Amino acid sequence: MRGKTMLDLGARNELIVLAAIRHAPEGTSQSEVVDRSGLSRQAVSLITRRLRERGMITTDGTLAGSRGKPRTVLRLVPTSLLAAGVHLDPAGITLVLADLLAEVIAERRLEAPTDDPAGDITRIAEALASIVEELADAGWRTPDGRGPEEALLGIGVASPGGIDVRRGVVVNPPWLPGWRGVELVEQLAEASGLPVVLDKDTNAALTAHTWSAAQSSEETVLYIYVGAGVGSAVSSGHRVQHGSGALAGEIGHLPTGLDGEVCGCGRRACLSQFTDVSILLTGGRRAGILPADGEAGGKDGGGADGTADADPGGKAGRDAGREQDTRSQLQDLVAAADGGSEPARALTLAYGAALGEALRTLIGVHDPHRVVLGGPYWTALAPQVMPVIEARVRRDAPPERVQLMSSTLGDEVAALGAATLFLQRELSPAAR
Ligand SMILES: [Zn+2]
Repeated sequence: MRGKTMLDLGARNELIVLAAIRHAPEGTSQSEVVDRSGLSRQAVSLITRRLRERGMITTDGTLAGSRGKPRTVLRLVPTSLLAAGVHLDPAGITLVLADLLAEVIAERRLEAPTDDPAGDITRIAEALASIVEELADAGWRTPDGRGPEEALLGIGVASPGGIDVRRGVVVNPPWLPGWRGVELVEQLAEASGLPVVLDKDTNAALTAHTWSAAQSSEETVLYIYVGAGVGSAVSSGHRVQHGSGALAGEIGHLPTGLDGEVCGCGRRACLSQFTDVSILLTGGRRAGILPADGEAGGKDGGGADGTADADPGGKAGRDAGREQDTRSQLQDLVAAADGGSEPARALTLAYGAALGEALRTLIGVHDPHRVVLGGPYWTALAPQVMPVIEARVRRDAPPERVQLMSSTLGDEVAALGAATLFLQRELSPAAR
């Protein structure tokens, strides 16, 4: 894929107008944009004309007010631009193309990352080029007739922890042991000819949420990412908090105050001792609820090596179907709990209690308007785990203080989120 010129969207005022229109998917009027943006009528008029010329908004149709003359409706053209999202996960690589409203246009699953990051990066760039080509061949065009290659702005990558977001480097990822010191952003940009941004999977998932929800810019959101382990991310004013490095949200060693063993970190009953998926699955196998080792998902329990020291180079980690195996085992466990199996209930109860206690602490620290739970394994676990979490959280945080909700963005939220990372960087006035 050849390099191409980025849209000239540098001007902050243009991004402010675009955001005002984007946050009103049903359409908005020029006066409303003037009110919301704080810009002059003249400036808004000039900018909307430019955005229309670029095919990013339409001004057709009128919105009849309750009184007065009908107003011209400004609407975003969601498919005028695309961003690619890559979720780099030990269980597999997911690639998506998404439009400006974070709707998935195309999606592909690739084999898990290997110990050859350069080869993997080439594989990702080639897969992306082939998705774009297939879309073009299938006749996909923007409403003003541009092909997918022209519409594609850039690539966002979501990775597990151990990364340097600012430098775009995978530094020392416990989950991807072959990927030490990989200059991912530079190498993927080189291989694809597109600009690339990198962030943690938790931050990407939260960005997917804040990007697609037209929520108040004042709102503080605490996101809980439920994957092989559990991580958190916080945003306010549509901006994800990054901390000094990329270690914000590494909550695995948060003490839960429950009964538990001494953890490798020296404390007792850390969150990860209950919420590493490998622990659930091992417990499920020991109780005879799930098939014994080797029958499904591989030796280490379907790839849920939620701790840094678990089976780093494991063969099971190379299994692209691994995430699916883990998910279906979790579904089996939850179904057993639903069906009244005591050991299954004990496992999901412990998981929910630990996460609920961690949430009580995190809510105290961040005082969010809203807590959103999501991530690859959340949908499978939620039916049993959410009520337990809710009961714990409500001990000190009533619904009028904090809303508790499941993400509606599906299991591939990190890949979608990766695409929104790029949209956020390019198109959000808050990012400037
Ligand atoms: Zn610990």
